[in-house]
Amino acid sequence: MIWRAPQRSSWQTLREEGVGRFKPFSTAPVPERAILVGVDLGNSEWSCAGLNVIDLAELARLAETDGAEVVLTMVQRLDSPVPKTFIGKGKVEELCSYVKNLDADVVIFDDELTPSQQANLEKIVGEPVKIIDRTALILDIFGVHAKTHEGRLQVQLAQLQYVLPRLRGMWSHLVGEQTRGGIGSRFGQGESQLEVDRRLVRARISTLRRELDRLDKRRSVQSKARWDSGVYRVALVGYTNAGKSTLLNRLTGSDVYVQDELFATLDPTTRALDLEEGRKITITDTVGFIQKLPTMLIESFKSTLAEVRAADLILLVVDASDPHRELEIEAVRSVLSEIDASEIRCVTVLNKCDLLSEEERREVLLAHPEAQPISALEGQGIRGLLYRIAKEAAQGSVTMSVLVPYEKGLLMKMVHERCQVIRESYVQGGLLATVKADKRMAATLEPYRAVDEPLGDEPHNG
Ligand code: GDP
Ligand code: MG
Repeated sequence: MIWRAPQRSSWQTLREEGVGRFKPFSTAPVPERAILVGVDLGNSEWSCAGLNVIDLAELARLAETDGAEVVLTMVQRLDSPVPKTFIGKGKVEELCSYVKNLDADVVIFDDELTPSQQANLEKIVGEPVKIIDRTALILDIFGVHAKTHEGRLQVQLAQLQYVLPRLRGMWSHLVGEQTRGGIGSRFGQGESQLEVDRRLVRARISTLRRELDRLDKRRSVQSKARWDSGVYRVALVGYTNAGKSTLLNRLTGSDVYVQDELFATLDPTTRALDLEEGRKITITDTVGFIQKLPTMLIESFKSTLAEVRAADLILLVVDASDPHRELEIEAVRSVLSEIDASEIRCVTVLNKCDLLSEEERREVLLAHPEAQPISALEGQGIRGLLYRIAKEAAQGSVTMSVLVPYEKGLLMKMVHERCQVIRESYVQGGLLATVKADKRMAATLEPYRAVDEPLGDEPHNG
């Protein structure tokens, strides 16, 4: 049900606040009939000749995730978008006739439409057919899938930012009336209503920003606490539907929502995991990426994505069975660099290897010799992956001897949980241990470095 008012979304809140005189959103239980429109501008890898089909396949999946039935896809090659209607005049006419013949409810553009393009197209195609773009579609899906308070606020913010410049379009009929009538008391009615709506939306946007800022501060306090405790942090990132949540569940035995749909998980979930050698780490499942992720979403999900930035290790989960995996890897990498996370150590995890033939497996591994092949669903390769994580966690770690006084109970616990203990003994002054600690833990332990001869620097035995 595209562009419905999702439960407790910004739409509803706005209605309660009296700003709800937008177009009525359909709540029809039957799937809406959607026509997809893509333009091949020939300027990106995704849309170059022959590849535009992929683009629309993804848009189709998004539309289906949002409860629509795709009845037709249209693609036009253009050097640049037509300013007024995005697609050419002939194409618009074609679209109109398709809408009529196929009884379509909604037309979804793969690219972002400007507010005026959207308004113009709506005028030409005519009520009650909705014209929306990829951004609106993604925002709608996010609205349904946001589960936590913060997630909901983030989506609301993005939705309102999207709506603000489009308010005029929605009121164009009123503005029109006013210029035609234009006398006495009715003068300016439409415009002032528009201004009221804009003001209310703006006010709501700043309230949301403040609230999110507050949550963000609390989060940074929390993650600082985690930083101080020296836990090694792993973040799962990847294209939506790559199997991140399945992998988190497999690694930590939790039951995060897994679904064969786009954006099943929106809010980051963090779980603890004990590595075999005794070190505790945390693993965070994050929102799935997608090509052309709307920038306003990146902005409003900044704090969530900060979880990724704070990670020590990124596992880039890839659906190895997806024919477009290389493009997907690219899309994920570009979002990572957009959020300044490209410097973080990253291991590519080729998931869903159970779906590959021997030959395909070889081929994928040849293209990604450093990657870790696994099946999160069936469990193959998981031990190898854990070993790899442990190896990464141990990298840059220092072997040091420490004497932790008995009264430092917490620190002693941390030594056992966060370090690899090579040798230990309980002496008069406390716990005397030789440990392998990562950089953070080493810093924490520095004041307790044993001044005596170290207990030996032999390699670890576990
Ligand atoms: P996410 O969006 O990255 O969190 O992906 P999910 O964990 O929700 O998984 C998406 C879909 O892929 C689900 O239907 C999973 O059952 C399926 N899936 C995940 N891992 C594997 C795997 O290793 N093999 C196969 N065959 N399917 C998998
Ligand atoms: Mg997920």
